Amino acid sequence: MRYYLNYEITFASKDFENSFVEYLKSIGISENLNNPFFKANTTNLFYSADLVEAWLGKHISELNSTHNVYTLLLANLTGHVPSVTSKQYDAYLNKSISELTPHYYNVTYVDYDLGMKVKRRWMTSWGGRGRLYYIDLSAGPSNITRQFPLQWAVKSNNIDLGSTYGIKWLTQFLSDCIYGAVEGLFTPDFIYPPRLSKKYLVDILVIDNRTDLKTPQIDMTLNRSIIKSELERLLPFAEVRVNTRFMNVTESPELTSLVINSKSPTRRRNATVVDLRPIYYWLSENGEGHAKDFFNKTVDILNIPVMAFIFTGEYQFGFTFKEDVEYMCPQSIWGVALGDLVLVSHSSRDLVRGNFTEPKQPKKGFGLTHTILHEVGHMLGLVHPFRVDPTQDFVASVMAYYPYEYRFSQFDVDALIRGYVDLLIMGSTAEIEECGVNPLTYWLSSSAKKRLEDAERYYENMNYMEALIASMEAKNLTSMLSEWNQLLLKLSRILIVIIIAAGCTVVVVLGLYLLHRKRQNQACHVNCSNEIPKPIW
Ligand SMILES: [Zn+2]
Repeated sequence: MRYYLNYEITFASKDFENSFVEYLKSIGISENLNNPFFKANTTNLFYSADLVEAWLGKHISELNSTHNVYTLLLANLTGHVPSVTSKQYDAYLNKSISELTPHYYNVTYVDYDLGMKVKRRWMTSWGGRGRLYYIDLSAGPSNITRQFPLQWAVKSNNIDLGSTYGIKWLTQFLSDCIYGAVEGLFTPDFIYPPRLSKKYLVDILVIDNRTDLKTPQIDMTLNRSIIKSELERLLPFAEVRVNTRFMNVTESPELTSLVINSKSPTRRRNATVVDLRPIYYWLSENGEGHAKDFFNKTVDILNIPVMAFIFTGEYQFGFTFKEDVEYMCPQSIWGVALGDLVLVSHSSRDLVRGNFTEPKQPKKGFGLTHTILHEVGHMLGLVHPFRVDPTQDFVASVMAYYPYEYRFSQFDVDALIRGYVDLLIMGSTAEIEECGVNPLTYWLSSSAKKRLEDAERYYENMNYMEALIASMEAKNLTSMLSEWNQLLLKLSRILIVIIIAAGCTVVVVLGLYLLHRKRQNQACHVNCSNEIPKPIW
């Protein structure tokens, strides 16, 4: 499958720029606080990412001539709103951090299960509630991306934007921004091939392994209805079931001893981990296959089994790699989607993390709902949006790391439905070709082709849900076409057998008849010769 993307570039009018800047000025909040990029206090100006996205969503039609497009809005607000300046780059090099005046976009979240408030302040871009993504080239620098804003990138590389090379350099810089958005958000690849089903079952088993803290209650760590409703948004064409069960690890003595014997004694990177690989080997069908002791597979439904552990203390799952504990990602993880199974781990301290943060949020913590939604997203095929550029970690998607978003972005929804449509169109086209031309089933193949053409047209216009409906109908028609073809083939075989049998019968009957006649003739000849009256002389 090959995508052809059309790019259109529009420059915003002065009126649009001015009204956007005015809006930003009206919502900006200045706070002098520790900036994690500089590890020192700076005077930071924050804009609500959600408000900015909503404003842009409302006014974007002033820039776009068509509705069904992905819009990437690149802004350079240097000189319009407080931003780090070229001069401030020298101050940064001289460690005069207090002079810096960067600006950022922020969102505040609250954990749905256990109430932990999460402030995500240091963002330079945002989008995903619609088909819009906004990158402020002059915002930052952010500790999350470790990238410079444009004006510092220019300064730090001694670029003269008026020079021949400067123009090329800027073009490449902007191309990189576009590449990140296109590859990460607009047309992402999949981590697993999308699996289309009419019914999905997310079967969640939460296993309490705490021996230290007893609060919160285990059934408070998960919100079934949010998982269900978010997945229904992602899979609007399907029936989504979510089962939740809770058990204490001691109910399975074998699992209890496996967890105890998988605790890594390592202190590298301050890791406190339960080694995930022995647990997965024990559960996986390719290993000892014990997952079936905990999950019943339901037929005619796509099963996504989720096993979520609450470990004692600070223990979480960790992957080992040679002598290290996970050499690329953080040393421990909250979850992993392994294709056949999701494994999730939160420590008992994660559930009351607010007791250990500064400032404290007493008894508040992180539940499992967010982690499970993220991992189920992977199981369905979705990738991290920041796969090619960390800038795209700033997106309203549960698949991102930095925001604590529960929703799937519009980009996630589009990508998955597009993936399903690809499968259906490719499958149906191949099936029609395989069936060949048959006058008796022509009406079916032409109807299927017609629906495929409809699907392609909807797809091109980015009406992916309509494309899915049309391609599903095409698939039903091609399935009927195949069935009819099979039936006609069987009938034609039966007919051939009948014709051959009838032919044989006719030949045999004719043969017998002729034989009979011959014998009659012979008999007659004998009799007749006997009966010929002797001549009377
Ligand atoms: Zn992930």
